[in-house]
Amino acid sequence: MDSVVWLKDVGKDNLSLVGGKGASLGEMINIGVPVPGGFAVTAQAFRDFINRAGIAKKIFKALDVDVNQEVQLHKAEMTAKKLIMEAKVPEDIEKAIKSRYEELCQQEGKQVFVAVRSSATAEDLPDASFAGQQETYLNMRGAEEVFNAVRKCWASLYGARAIFYRVEQGFEHEKVNLSAIVQKMVDSEKSGVMFSSQPSTGEPLVVIEGAWGLGESVVSGSVSPDNFVVDRKTKKILSKYIATKETMIIRDPKTQKTVTIKVPAKKKEAVVLTDKEAIELANYAEILEKHYGIPQDIEWGVEKGKIYILQSRPITTIGNAKKAEASSSEASGKVLLTGLGAAPGVATGLVRLISSGRDLDKVKQGDIMVTKMTMPDMVPGMKRAGAIVTDEGGMACHAAIVSRELGCPAVVGTKKATTTLKDGMEITVDGGKGIVYEGRVALASSAKPAAAAAGTAGMTVSKPITATEVKVNVSEPDRAEAAAATMADGVGLLRIEHMILGLGKTPNWYIKNGKSEEYIDELAKGIKIVADAFFPRPVWVRTLDAPTDEFRAMEGGENEPHEHNPMLGWRGIRRDLTETDHFRLEVRAFKKLHDMGLTNVGIMLPMVQHVREFQKAKAIMMEESLDLEKIDVGIMVETPGAALTIEDFIDDGIDFISFGTNDLTQYTLAVDRNNENVAGLYSELHPAILKLIEYVVERCNEAGVKTSICGQAGSYPEMAKRLVEIGITSISANIDAVATVRETVARSEKILMLRALRNRD
Ligand code: PEP
Ligand code: MG
Repeated sequence: MDSVVWLKDVGKDNLSLVGGKGASLGEMINIGVPVPGGFAVTAQAFRDFINRAGIAKKIFKALDVDVNQEVQLHKAEMTAKKLIMEAKVPEDIEKAIKSRYEELCQQEGKQVFVAVRSSATAEDLPDASFAGQQETYLNMRGAEEVFNAVRKCWASLYGARAIFYRVEQGFEHEKVNLSAIVQKMVDSEKSGVMFSSQPSTGEPLVVIEGAWGLGESVVSGSVSPDNFVVDRKTKKILSKYIATKETMIIRDPKTQKTVTIKVPAKKKEAVVLTDKEAIELANYAEILEKHYGIPQDIEWGVEKGKIYILQSRPITTIGNAKKAEASSSEASGKVLLTGLGAAPGVATGLVRLISSGRDLDKVKQGDIMVTKMTMPDMVPGMKRAGAIVTDEGGMACHAAIVSRELGCPAVVGTKKATTTLKDGMEITVDGGKGIVYEGRVALASSAKPAAAAAGTAGMTVSKPITATEVKVNVSEPDRAEAAAATMADGVGLLRIEHMILGLGKTPNWYIKNGKSEEYIDELAKGIKIVADAFFPRPVWVRTLDAPTDEFRAMEGGENEPHEHNPMLGWRGIRRDLTETDHFRLEVRAFKKLHDMGLTNVGIMLPMVQHVREFQKAKAIMMEESLDLEKIDVGIMVETPGAALTIEDFIDDGIDFISFGTNDLTQYTLAVDRNNENVAGLYSELHPAILKLIEYVVERCNEAGVKTSICGQAGSYPEMAKRLVEIGITSISANIDAVATVRETVARSEKILMLRALRNRD
């Protein structure tokens, strides 16, 4: 039997050969839906590989563990994956994969980018769904890279999450195989989404949204798309709205990476779809809805004039909207928990209890991640989660900050989520109101998911010009494009700790293992993504500020000291000035970026409390030959100590300050920001905080030093208004809050001007 088959040659009867995903793609092609072409490496090829390589027995032996024992599960994963990654793949199988890819390239007339997706199948239950259990690799190119991605898909069959799932669901590992689907990626010149039925009422109207370039801009909502409504029955276009499309995402022909560029002037106001294309799309929407039997949410793209259907999944909003209307705006479900509504949005999903970064694989796309408190090494799981619920934390805790940035609904500080909620139970999370309900509950939530809100930020057709700059906070480099799409005036805070902690090893591990250069490169790589996206707008990068408890879970973190009050402990600049080896590596990364021409990168020092700290840091920067004339260096004002002695810092030549109100509030009011028991006392608008801010801004304005805010409070309109009145130079908000803050700033500035004019007469 062939190891590879074309997708067009398979269909719903080939589940055991190519798994559910492969069969469904084949089926789509057979019913006339233009999905991107490609081939499947069959499930039998995988089986053939492990048998002939002599690793099958070893794999299954390794998998025979108690999956509820985290350490055992982790070990099983490591052993099985290693066997797959290191065994020799029989030549005929390797050759079949590589030459089929080359054939695909020949058909396209170029080396194509492909996605390599996993499509698992069970021998005795071929239609069992293992969706989301295994991995997908996007943007693969070249026979070797594609072959390696196939091997990685095979290995992902033995990821901890997949092993756990199979045991939980009663599948025998020996009977589950994996087909790898290799599918052409579409380089869309225009793209978008469409709903086969009106998404809130369910009427038979196809709603199409489209914009220039690759689909991410419409999907993420970073651009305002054109909108067409087509009657599904008569195929008549009922309405057409042409938006001003400011930016587009394309694949850079030189680097082959995706980049956001300005839409050329000619195309900004031009209609994206022809009427013919809109009707053709509506036809496909109809076919898909009929095929699946329920309304579909579809992603499409047009490459070289040809329409492709990239994804189709059920619309979930129709039923909800209807049910919500019926039950008025209040939810009728049983309330299991309440906490702080830390990131808006509503999500229903299955509970996954997570005790450390190591069992993250349990969290599949859309699951609800429940944990005591999130740690930065949990971010990969947070990205997949439909919502996050924690026992601990206040509005400025790690879970809250990251969830808002990721656009993931979150309820923090529930005190007992990990004891009340059980693995696998279905719950509904209202991240706006801070409520967790039992089961699936229809909510007419006024709170938009933060991701959608981030979208509306990008949809601002014309951005008001404000004298006070409005910047954005970023923690994850892969959110750089979404952040840049808000058209913010720069990045007021780039947190690097998530980047570093995401490496899985502490900075000290790199230093001790002689891998300092690697660390510098990793750091520079992450920062560069954000600096590139914003160039020439300034990006203030904060040096490492991770409390010791956040390091402990990582490799190299075993000897982190146990501190009674990590928040008041060895973090920020105080740690970097005792572990100067590390600080020097950060400085070298900054130097590297500046040498590359990224002169928009500035350095911001966290947790400063005495001018001596700034002086010492500056001396090290000079020793490392950083040109302080050319690089902006500033401090975060997060301690009353720094605020009340700001003149000393000004005298010593700081270029800017930024209020870290998350910390300034906890240190001024003696309220632990991570402690839900005192969350009610935590208020950034406390008169003491405002007094400190006012004092610092006045001193800085007198001296011509720039002032900004990067704490969560900068995203609150009330605070933004006060800060404009106080005379701050810039405000840095979360991605989802930039548009609102910008509007608030514009209005507040106008009010001030009007007031001044009126007073003149
Ligand atoms: C702050 O303290 O306000 C701040 C922005 O820093 P972090 O939240 O990372 O401590
Ligand atoms: Mg802080």
